[in-house]
Amino acid sequence: MPAVLRVALPVPLPTLFDYLPAASGRADVGSRVLVPFGKGKAVGVVVETNVESAVGHARLKRVLKVLDDGPLLDAELMATLARAADYWLGAPGEAYANALPLALREDRPLPDLREEAWALTAAGQSALDAGSRRGGSRALLEALAPGPVTAELLHELLPGWRDAARRLDEAGLIERTGVAGAAPLPTSTPPELMPEQRQAVDTIAASLGQFQSFLLDGVTGSGKTEVYLALIEQVVAQGKQALLLVPEIGLAPQTVRRVRDRLGVAVEVLHSNLAEGDRARAWLRARSGEAKVILGTRSAVFTPLPHAGLIVVDEEHDGAYKQQEGFRYHARDLALLRARALDVPVVLGSATPSLESLANVQAGRYRALHLRARPGAIRAPQVQIVDMRAQRLEHGLSPALLAAVADTVARGEQALVFRNRRGYAPVLLCHACGWHAECPRCEHPMTLHAGRRQLICHHCDYTARLPAQCPACAAPDLKPQGQGTERLEEALAAQFPEVPVLRIDRETTRRRDAFEQLLESLHEDRPAILVGTQMLAKGHDLPNLTLVAIVGVDEGLHSVDFRASERLSQLVVQVAGRAGRARKPGRVLLQTHHPDHPLLRQLLAQGYAAAAATLLDERRSVQLPPYGHQVLLRAEAHQREHVDAFLVDAAHALAGAPLQLAGPMPAPMPLRAGRHRGQLLIEAETRSALHTALRPWYRMLSTLPSARRVRWSLDVDPVDL
Ligand code: ADP
Ligand code: ZN
Ligand code: ZN
Repeated sequence: MPAVLRVALPVPLPTLFDYLPAASGRADVGSRVLVPFGKGKAVGVVVETNVESAVGHARLKRVLKVLDDGPLLDAELMATLARAADYWLGAPGEAYANALPLALREDRPLPDLREEAWALTAAGQSALDAGSRRGGSRALLEALAPGPVTAELLHELLPGWRDAARRLDEAGLIERTGVAGAAPLPTSTPPELMPEQRQAVDTIAASLGQFQSFLLDGVTGSGKTEVYLALIEQVVAQGKQALLLVPEIGLAPQTVRRVRDRLGVAVEVLHSNLAEGDRARAWLRARSGEAKVILGTRSAVFTPLPHAGLIVVDEEHDGAYKQQEGFRYHARDLALLRARALDVPVVLGSATPSLESLANVQAGRYRALHLRARPGAIRAPQVQIVDMRAQRLEHGLSPALLAAVADTVARGEQALVFRNRRGYAPVLLCHACGWHAECPRCEHPMTLHAGRRQLICHHCDYTARLPAQCPACAAPDLKPQGQGTERLEEALAAQFPEVPVLRIDRETTRRRDAFEQLLESLHEDRPAILVGTQMLAKGHDLPNLTLVAIVGVDEGLHSVDFRASERLSQLVVQVAGRAGRARKPGRVLLQTHHPDHPLLRQLLAQGYAAAAATLLDERRSVQLPPYGHQVLLRAEAHQREHVDAFLVDAAHALAGAPLQLAGPMPAPMPLRAGRHRGQLLIEAETRSALHTALRPWYRMLSTLPSARRVRWSLDVDPVDL
């Protein structure tokens, strides 16, 4: 009897698929195979060999082609991915697909790992000597005459060289070759570590070679990155690999530079903004063991680490680590799974640890290490509350706030006005009749973007032209309500015409390197005013920034989302940490209509740790995460009845299980992009109770007839309900 292969295919189904082996080529667990699927073909990953198939051999199809000589995914990744798919109740095929860069999910040979460079062939040399080519081709032949040149350099020397390269390559006049990349030399020397840093490094280093989770809890600027660097240095010296996760691409360049300058090792970078070929090459260099330090965002947690030494998750509290579509994993938790499987320590770093991680410290599962001192800084910034009640506001800015900005720029220093909302104003209202601009697909207010003269729905990106008059009553006076960053930028530029005002949000940093460039344009020693969203809350040393003014946090104080208080506390502390990073003392103002709110009071008087402890007590008393455990079933469809019917069937199937159900009920946004949305929240006191009941239920859901009329997904440990 021929051995049957079990294959994971990238489809949102809880199943694996059986195939007969290919006519030629041996497929191992972890190898990619091309198989017939439906009417077409698909690339899958072999999960098991020699299985007993429940399907008769006569009905099994045959693997068309084995794409890899050996496994592309090693045994550890295969095992971790299987565990992850089980934990997050995800489609196994989607979990495996997530682990592979896009370019490796296709039926194509593996990309050349060498840095891309081009050289003349003998025929090319003759053509050059004979002077037979003209124009761009001639220029490229001449550029390659002295020897191989990297693609990177060609981009600089001969813009548009690619067309010429294609022609010459086809004619056999040039060829792709490799060049040996020179290792960078270390150019910076490590500072002498402070006692707490030293202790953290020594404690974690003592665990190298075994699994242990650490929470590195240190205020912004306390030197967490220096701790990572010292550890990475030890790991690299042992010939091992270090994986460093950061929540945002924006944080990558400066960290890459720090690692390279300090350790003199090349850093592989993996994030979703990379060209697919580059991403695949970086992934493969990690897999070959050649890459020693790998730095990346969420999906880099799937990087193969054959010589793993250490995993670091920086800013571990950050929501960006949670994948919100497809396979809904959490990169921090996946990093823990991997560290355990790889027998290496994992370090979670944050100035504002998540309540999940703090609970894990309390339970003894993580070891906490604290950095309380701030090397170099004079003192932690003072946070003052600005009471906005009964104040005359200038576009939402109070006199006290404007005065503080004026003082700051008069001293030649920089101020940051933080507002976590893009656009000019969140609402456009008619004062004559009460009409307001609403997204027809979401029934939610549309945000006014004044510069683009557009209304944009921030939930579904629906865009409309800015009406000249009220569409309902034709009155001319449409009034923007509330403030976004664009409006604050305008107001501050008008107030301070002689000072540069820089806006940093998703709109102004759309281009790949725009964020870096904007920050670089900030001359260290000049006054400036920055207006920005969350993007500015993290990383980035701005040595001349001495004032941080936080506006518009009140929404977070009254949210129905039980995580809103935690998020607000983290945001306030993170943003405040931007002030006074270098020699100059910083000042932080928080403008609010609720100066007596207990959360704000405690946060400002006692700090994040105390506020987090209070929030944890609240969560425990009502059995919310991290003490209780949640899974959310979401469904959406063009017709509400279809959503309701599916959710009722799904809830019905759980009757009798030791779980608490909330719903079926409408989602917090009951309509989005024209689809009706509903949800069923499932809670249990223990994870095992939850998973025991939900595993078979999850497999059953896709067989429900009512499931065919909706889009549905399961979210384990959801972060936004
Ligand atoms: P974090 O990652 O906690 O925000 P960093 O590691 O970036 O902190 O350190 C903040 C600043 O302090 C950096 O400019 C860093 O070079 C400096 N620094 C860190 N540790 C030391 C030290 N032991 N001595 C002197 N300067 C230090
Ligand atoms: Zn009107
Ligand atoms: Zn919309």
